[in-house]
Amino acid sequence: MVWDVVVLGGGPAGLFAAIAAAEEGVRSIVLEHLPSPGRKLLASGGGACNLTHEGEVADFLAHYGGGDRPGDAGRFLRPALYGFSNTDLVHWFAQRGVPLAGDPAGRVFPCSRRAGDVLAFLLATARRRRVELRTGVRIRSVGVERSRFVVFGSPEGDPVLEGTTLVLATGGRSYPTLGATGDGYRLAASLGHSVVPPRPALVPLRIERRAFAPFAPCAGVSLSTALSLVRNLKKVASGHGEILFTHRGLSGPAVLDLSRHVLPGDVVRVGLLAGAGDLAATEARLGAEIAAHGKRTVTNLLQGMGMVACLARALVSSVGLDGGTKAAELRRDVRHTLAASLAAGAEGGHPFPVRSVGSWNEAMVTAGGVRLAEVDPKMLQSRLVPGLFFAGEFLDVDGDTGGYNLQAAFSTGRLAGRSAAELARGRLSQR
Ligand SMILES: Cc1cc2nc3c(=O)[nH]c(=O)nc-3n(C[C@H](O)[C@H](O)[C@H](O)COP(=O)(O)OP(=O)(O)OC[C@H]3O[C@@H](n4cnc5c(N)ncnc54)[C@H](O)[C@@H]3O)c2cc1C
Repeated sequence: MVWDVVVLGGGPAGLFAAIAAAEEGVRSIVLEHLPSPGRKLLASGGGACNLTHEGEVADFLAHYGGGDRPGDAGRFLRPALYGFSNTDLVHWFAQRGVPLAGDPAGRVFPCSRRAGDVLAFLLATARRRRVELRTGVRIRSVGVERSRFVVFGSPEGDPVLEGTTLVLATGGRSYPTLGATGDGYRLAASLGHSVVPPRPALVPLRIERRAFAPFAPCAGVSLSTALSLVRNLKKVASGHGEILFTHRGLSGPAVLDLSRHVLPGDVVRVGLLAGAGDLAATEARLGAEIAAHGKRTVTNLLQGMGMVACLARALVSSVGLDGGTKAAELRRDVRHTLAASLAAGAEGGHPFPVRSVGSWNEAMVTAGGVRLAEVDPKMLQSRLVPGLFFAGEFLDVDGDTGGYNLQAAFSTGRLAGRSAAELARGRLSQR
């Protein structure tokens, strides 16, 4: 039997592609190498499944990295996101009995806060639509014979099955324990596609030991602030939001979002005083505080300005001051350094030199993947191999934290599944 749509990968993108294809009236099958599908979906949002984000879908476009130039990923995703937006996703689930709700930060979760409910519902929908799901099948190679795709599995390399169209939705390389294999990149390359080298994204940063030592006792402290990324003295990216101090470095949503740009040796500058203005304003404010409370220790003065106690102690130590140093005793240059560490803006932020970005076991997503220029964004069909489609994290697209990755998986899955079904139907009618 030749399947109309064969989907490799039983994550949210693959399941949604197969469901969308089946809704178009063609026969679709999902091949998943783990014993059960959707493992990453189950772990998402700490098990609560942050499915998407509130707001206008137009605002989503700036939340993705990838492509050859800045903005490419948003432009590429536009047809998929507009075709099945965050609002569509909320309605799709709600109308079928899985209500979703936003939190104060705009992140959208199932009301039950259980990823298991979302997966169970997807699988029930797939069953109802007669999508075939085969688990425990790892696909190792793909061939094209007489305009059909033949997929070969493990361990003997026997052909598993044939399809009129093929959707590659095998995800990225992050979290191998949740199913990531990276196999898809090899499969795509064997069909002639180029792959932007995958690298960890949405990942914590380790900071140079000596620079971080004073801040190590602050593990667990978080603050909402401005941060920027500096390379060879030039600012290359910036952000704002919650950052979290860990035992060896920095994490939290704002750091994770910045991480797709980070290389070892870069410097992350973090404004250590939440809500501080730019350098000039912060210097003026610090000067006024010193004039008013010169007898206080510098640590107490900084705390009085609203700084978290642990960070105040760490900053004082990191600029080489003794804990007992009085504010009035500060030298002008040290005062300037302190103000810069507190401040936001172009010249502000305490410098944290990056030792390394976290590993594949810590990265929530993968940056890099199938090169976008080789894929038609309106159908998500390969520009090189007719009948080959792509969906999800496997593409060179990576979203910010907050539900942007799952939304992209669902939107691209749906578009790829529908497009594949359309093509398969057309080929059927020609026979
Ligand atoms: C811990 C964690 C928490 C996350 N939380 C969120 C969140 O709250 N919100 C959000 O938007 N995003 C979140 N993400 C990211 C999100 O889960 C992914 O972006 C999303 O799952 C990508 O979907 P996908 O279907 O493209 O890939 P995946 O979910 O990775 O699915 C790909 C599937 O392909 C299978 N596969 C791989 N190779 C083969 C092969 N050779 N043969 C057969 N099958 C194969 C894999 O086993 C896997 O099941 C989180 C990620 C992690 C790791």
